[in-house]
Amino acid sequence: MDTKKKVLGEFERLRDRYIPLMERRTGLNLGQIEIKSLIEENCKDDLLGRTMEIKALKRMGVVKPTVLYNPVEETIQVPTFLWNELDKSNNQEADEIMIHELTHHVWTKTPNRIPLQSVPSVVGEGFAVYGEQHWFADFLPAKRNLTPKSNYHPDYIVGEEWVRKLVEEYGDQILLKIPARYGEFVTWAEGEK
Ligand SMILES: [Zn+2]
Repeated sequence: MDTKKKVLGEFERLRDRYIPLMERRTGLNLGQIEIKSLIEENCKDDLLGRTMEIKALKRMGVVKPTVLYNPVEETIQVPTFLWNELDKSNNQEADEIMIHELTHHVWTKTPNRIPLQSVPSVVGEGFAVYGEQHWFADFLPAKRNLTPKSNYHPDYIVGEEWVRKLVEEYGDQILLKIPARYGEFVTWAEGEK
């Protein structure tokens, strides 16, 4: 089997494992989500400007495999070189990536959500990192070791800490209010992020 088919097949398998679990926890219908192959060069007009983000990460020396969630198409886009780049010391890294991307999809499927493409990345990514590290982390086959902060863009860490503090203050029920009302909860000045 060629690499592309193998990689997409692996991610489809993970999608099918985690969607029902995440639907049960959130009460949302996550529907269908297609896994597509991502050709980085073709993403120049990517809706979230993520191509720039990939380049910024590379400049910072944080070369992590990047999977993208496209909130308009509602697809997950996987670069096919990814399989070789996964951290071999962490055999559930692909699971963690899938949960991260599906947490973006939870945002998109939340009623009255503000479209992800018009939300600051610190908010959108903070929400997804919180999903990956806390909200849905117990679904992983093995207990999750927290990913070193250096693996993330600094905005992701700021955003995750913001979500974590909201949950500490208001409880888990705040999570599904964030996509519609994050503006009420931001702790930084407008334009700062
Ligand atoms: Zn993300």
